[in-house]
Amino acid sequence: MLRQAGVKVTQPRLRVLSCLLEAQAALSHAEIESWLSAEDAGELDRVTLYRVLDSLVGCGIASRSLDARGVFRFMLKSMQLAHAEHAHFHCQRCGRVFCVASMPVPTPSLPTGFVGISVALEISGLCPPCA
Ligand SMILES: [Zn+2]
Ligand SMILES: [Zn+2]
Repeated sequence: MLRQAGVKVTQPRLRVLSCLLEAQAALSHAEIESWLSAEDAGELDRVTLYRVLDSLVGCGIASRSLDARGVFRFMLKSMQLAHAEHAHFHCQRCGRVFCVASMPVPTPSLPTGFVGISVALEISGLCPPCA
């Protein structure tokens, strides 16, 4: 993926990339940090992590979006397409985002002349442990 995107393959990039590949949801800086620190290779310093995430977003492998709490979350672009097909539940207390695979995103019927490009369905509330 890194070679295809035209960026140098480095150990930190590989580690962050595999973390994003394994993750089922969009991860924040803090979540990626704690994920990496649990690995045998140890944690990545914060500056390196920020640079790696910037480069992954810059070359188009990952995307960055602000969640409802104003926290940046990172996800692979390829995964984002799959996630665009179902609704998401955002917990207002713990900030976690859950996939609601049983709830497909409806295709809106737009007035003449409008061209829809993307539709997202996000439900806010409290997840079971928080509720
Ligand atoms: Zn919660
Ligand atoms: Zn999803």
